[in-house]
Amino acid sequence: MTKFIIVAGGVISGVGKGVATASLGKILKEHGYTTTLIKIDPYINGDAGTLRPTEHGEVWVTDDGGEIDQDLGTYERFMNEAIPKKNNITTGQIYKSVIDKERAGHYLGQTVQFVPHIIDEVKHRIIAASGDHEIAIIEIGGTVGDYENVPFLFALKRLEREIGANNMAYVLVTYLPIPDSIAEMKTKPTQQAIRLLGSEGILPDFILCRAKYPLDTERKKKIAEFAHIPLDHIISAPDIDTIYQIPLNFEAEGLGQKVLSHFGLTSRQQPNWDNWQKLVTAIKNPERKVTIAIIGKYLTSGDYSMTDSYLSISQALTHAGADQNCGITLKWIDAQTFETDPTKLAQLNEVDGVIIPGGFGASGVEGKMKAIEYVRKNNIPYLGLCYGMQLAAVEFARNACGAPEAHTTEVDKDTLHPVVDILPLQKELLDQKDYGGTMRLGSYSAVVQKNSKVAQLYKGATVIANGDVEVSERHRHRYEMNPAYVPMLEENGLIFSGYHVRQDGTKLMEFLELPDHAFFVATQAHPEFKSRFGNPNPLFAGFVKACMVE
Ligand code: GLN
Repeated sequence: MTKFIIVAGGVISGVGKGVATASLGKILKEHGYTTTLIKIDPYINGDAGTLRPTEHGEVWVTDDGGEIDQDLGTYERFMNEAIPKKNNITTGQIYKSVIDKERAGHYLGQTVQFVPHIIDEVKHRIIAASGDHEIAIIEIGGTVGDYENVPFLFALKRLEREIGANNMAYVLVTYLPIPDSIAEMKTKPTQQAIRLLGSEGILPDFILCRAKYPLDTERKKKIAEFAHIPLDHIISAPDIDTIYQIPLNFEAEGLGQKVLSHFGLTSRQQPNWDNWQKLVTAIKNPERKVTIAIIGKYLTSGDYSMTDSYLSISQALTHAGADQNCGITLKWIDAQTFETDPTKLAQLNEVDGVIIPGGFGASGVEGKMKAIEYVRKNNIPYLGLCYGMQLAAVEFARNACGAPEAHTTEVDKDTLHPVVDILPLQKELLDQKDYGGTMRLGSYSAVVQKNSKVAQLYKGATVIANGDVEVSERHRHRYEMNPAYVPMLEENGLIFSGYHVRQDGTKLMEFLELPDHAFFVATQAHPEFKSRFGNPNPLFAGFVKACMVE
């Protein structure tokens, strides 16, 4: 039977509950237990697809096409495995399925209520997501005491009654502030979080104490006594330079073995953290450094710079850099800068490489294309992701194929040269207002031409007929390269080195590259979603290597 570990937050959110969950998962996996991670998001949205990235960070895409909270991304990056969309549960999903069942007459005249119907649906989804794993770790979004968390805590308490308390462990992640005025670490908010959790009938078994510094024994004792748990179940989680340090810190406190002992289990294998440690050291003290510009939008929200909307890209660069013992400095550039002042393009000479990430709509598009033209002509390494590929094709059509009117129909519906367009099938769906159905979401395989730059990057990929290779990356976009323009672009020197074949035989362009360039590769996919710590994505790895060339 699956053992469940519940991770709940106290005091404030945003202190690394997701990373703590991912770290614990990685640790238990290393101790030899099959482990999965589940995220509960108490919001009423069905998924994260419609959330504004400036508010909520990036939308994570799973292999099976889920548009999910970015914590699932953290889990995949730590666990080095794909996590399906059923591992993200939202309040919206729960109520929708209960209401749909009620409308379909499923409840046979019963009064449909919070208890037991909503609670049963929560439990049902948790059990389905845990599958046949030995351990399932469930992270509850927000903090204990939020109104919207109540159904989930209630359902977990019910699950505990059914499977027995010895099969459940509760981990509270709290924050210990150090107010400037007194310069002393305060435990009171943690005590209150313990009480709040207690009001749901739950006592924590472990408390992870986030703070600027490690906790001293006096504070650990105070919290342990307050929570009625052993002193060594209070784990210190001080601020760190890189999130990948956290599993190492937890293991230094013996967290894996302590959690296993709570379940009456012992470690099945001695974890080997050597490679993990080596990569962490490379992040902290890299042999060398490169600077990479990310030219996007969404870069400010009020007074804050919202680099979280590109979290997976910066993580993918960190993974690729750590592997090469190379530190990555990111330079965030708002694409519109180049529209108002093209002389600013000279800034790009100062960086070692440029990324244009995914994006939607017209804002900043002309600035992005100016930057692409600049890096193309000045031999500066370029990696284009999704919109970054579409705009590379439009820029090439405009400036290298004599078609200055070229555009994507996303920005100019009536363009003379729709180099990027909606496919006919999608047009039908759009006419029916089925917007969701027009998105290409999740993993798609692509055939990559042998001897192409992209094929060289994906070394180790499955070789298929005639020596081409097959690769698979995740997608989240609506527009496609217009097949009618592929010959014109290729005649002028752009190479489409990979394509996906749809069931109806249509070829969708997946990769483009320029020969005779330091590195000019772009993809319709989002390869950042398949990059993991210790297992970087091949496109990012190749790009960072190209950036390292003096
Ligand atoms: N806006 C483009 C499209 O919908 C690209 C999307 C993206 O970059 N994720 O096709």
